[in-house]
Amino acid sequence: MAAGVTAALMALPLAAGCEAAPPPASAEWQQPFDRLEHNWEVTRGLGHLGIRLTVLTGNQTFACDGEGLTANYAGIAVYCRNERTVVVAESRFQSVARAAVQRGGTVEAARAILLGHEIGHRVDERIRGKLVASKETELRADCLAGEGLEDSGETVRPADAEAFYAAASLKPDQDQKAANPHGIAAERLKYFELGSSKGIKGDSDGCGVRGHALHQDGSIEPGI
Ligand SMILES: [Zn+2]
Repeated sequence: MAAGVTAALMALPLAAGCEAAPPPASAEWQQPFDRLEHNWEVTRGLGHLGIRLTVLTGNQTFACDGEGLTANYAGIAVYCRNERTVVVAESRFQSVARAAVQRGGTVEAARAILLGHEIGHRVDERIRGKLVASKETELRADCLAGEGLEDSGETVRPADAEAFYAAASLKPDQDQKAANPHGIAAERLKYFELGSSKGIKGDSDGCGVRGHALHQDGSIEPGI
């Protein structure tokens, strides 16, 4: 598509590093982000992750992996590899958080799970040395979110995770409707819970980041 070509061409100037600094995130975002990052870096011993956070509001934009994201970005958040930056679309998050609250969750937990997922992409990239866009990569990030929230100081109950994944699976114009309990939300929740209970503690590779294949049933096998 023409749009793809444009995006690829526009990616070139990024290396120059002359993009304007991203707008700083508010404390309600930055503090849980810092706690989650610290949990991986220090408590779980991964070392410096070198990631930043930006939260887009109003007409703000951010150049992410060669594409200009806006505050109205269709997704809730994204991890930009080139910029090592987690970008959140605030208005989209607020919509998802409202839907999560309607389902018995809290805004704070929704924020923590969202950040946990995006930071999970960086953890995955750090351990595996690469990040390939795929469904498995997304499920691995959900799994790593579950693990990264353990001992992080964030309060996330099982009901919060259930509410968040149900809300996040809704289309932007679907907020008041019931989510399909057997669809994407249930699968994502399963991997989140797998990370919470098993994760990559010690020699465990429950999230499949150390060369093991990640299976739907949560089992692992020696990978390629
Ligand atoms: Zn993701």
